[in-house]
Amino acid sequence: MAAISLVQHDIVARVPELTDPTSTIEVPLTVRVDPLTGHTSRIITGTRLAPESRPDLTELTATPAFCPFCADRIETATGRFDAAITDEGRIRRGTAVVVPNVMAYSEFSAVGVYDPASHFLDLPELTAGRVGDLLGAFTAYTKGVHGVRPMWSSVNANYLPPSGSSLIHPHAQSAHDDVGTTIQRDLVQRSQAWDGDGSYWDALVAQEEGGDRWIGRRGRVSVFTPWAPVGFHEVWAVVGGAHDITDLTDDDCADLGAVLSGVFQTYYGLNLTSFNWAMYGGGPAPSERYSVLLRVVSRSNIDPFYRSDVTYFEHLHAEAMIDLAPEDMAALVRPQLG
Ligand SMILES: [Zn+2]
Repeated sequence: MAAISLVQHDIVARVPELTDPTSTIEVPLTVRVDPLTGHTSRIITGTRLAPESRPDLTELTATPAFCPFCADRIETATGRFDAAITDEGRIRRGTAVVVPNVMAYSEFSAVGVYDPASHFLDLPELTAGRVGDLLGAFTAYTKGVHGVRPMWSSVNANYLPPSGSSLIHPHAQSAHDDVGTTIQRDLVQRSQAWDGDGSYWDALVAQEEGGDRWIGRRGRVSVFTPWAPVGFHEVWAVVGGAHDITDLTDDDCADLGAVLSGVFQTYYGLNLTSFNWAMYGGGPAPSERYSVLLRVVSRSNIDPFYRSDVTYFEHLHAEAMIDLAPEDMAALVRPQLG
């Protein structure tokens, strides 16, 4: 198996010292290159943007007069799937429920609630079971959509307003059409074009296993932090042998649920409150050289007048600036997967 080369540019910046601007100090930083996509990330030193305490979420997360995802409304406020996709109407797995999405951002889209019984679930309450059941319900929906015809599928989540979520009740959503998304197409096409033998993702996992970025394995899900993250506190879960979301088994969903839940516990311990995750399917003709990737990042905290974590660097240069090295992040998550 060809070695995957992890390229890093070491830079030294000469800047005025914060406490004494008359003196100049040298500060190292590194720019890392993602070995598949060529995307670069800046790992900076000397700054910690992590919050010192958790914000009070009581007012924001109080149960409102009307919420379409709460248990007393979900049966009347949401629609049912077309029988051509599933005969389940609303897809239920454990506490999780997946229903048609009213937002038309893709030809087919679904929205899923981890648990209608609780209007708000804080990070520790997003348990392995709740997350795994939600992923299982989305996988069932994705299989139904692919029964219409194979297409690009992803399952994704915003959590609280800094991540882009408009509804507080914790949920996730899927997208399915013939186009896919920029990053999804790029991942799949570059995996197909990779010049090594076999699967890029198998090679990456083999190379990362046991190293500084390795977190652990559950079933066929390998968990590690990426060499060149695109977001803060980013963690990857790669499902070996699953080339599309339709290949996920109940065990895979349970394992991915445990992984995500473990990451959420870590975020809670870091006083973080908001996150995004995305799980990329392999497209209408999945390649054996691609494995399903689920990645999760933290987002800005829910303070009034919060500072966005997406600056011109991230938004207009597609360049993450990270203040916690992936190796340090892996060490924080590792105990959660023990
Ligand atoms: Zn609710």
